[in-house]
Amino acid sequence: MKKVLDNCVFCGQRGEALRPITFSNSFTAYQFLQAGSGACPQCFKLFQNPKTRKTSWILHGEDGEIRELEHPLETLLNPPNPPFFIYLTKQKRKHGWIRVINYPALNRDKFIIAYEENRVLIDRQRLAKLVEFARRLRSRNIPVNILLSGNPSASQVRRFKLTREEIDELKTMRGDFQWEIAEKFSQD
Ligand SMILES: [Zn+2]
Repeated sequence: MKKVLDNCVFCGQRGEALRPITFSNSFTAYQFLQAGSGACPQCFKLFQNPKTRKTSWILHGEDGEIRELEHPLETLLNPPNPPFFIYLTKQKRKHGWIRVINYPALNRDKFIIAYEENRVLIDRQRLAKLVEFARRLRSRNIPVNILLSGNPSASQVRRFKLTREEIDELKTMRGDFQWEIAEKFSQD
């Protein structure tokens, strides 16, 4: 009987080398899976390795090994030659990497990464400005929640000496994942 080719549930690649996988009870990323019954060798390796969930990493080069990023912003601002895949996490428990496995970065200036369970387009030039802004504000010990909510109270404005321009800029960046990344990784 002819063997039916099946798809990798993570990347969708067809092949005969699929390996069966079992999901633990804590697995919640079913909405990111594709139809299929197993994983291709590359995705199987990623899925089995706890570091894939628990660290921020880059996948680059032929060996198929992920490399942990100790200073993620430095890599985003100065990425290697494409193709590469980047996954960033602070939560360190979810399978958000599935979001990027079909989106290899092909351009050093604009590329897609996975951040937690989101897919984010990185614009290197803009990110550089955001990182500078984040570091400037962080040096004044302004709490993250103020920077991300973009909505400081009157007493916080006085206490942290926020200027009108800074407040306006914070407001425009509410919900902007690039800003969140610049902010959350600015001290790594
Ligand atoms: Zn795959």
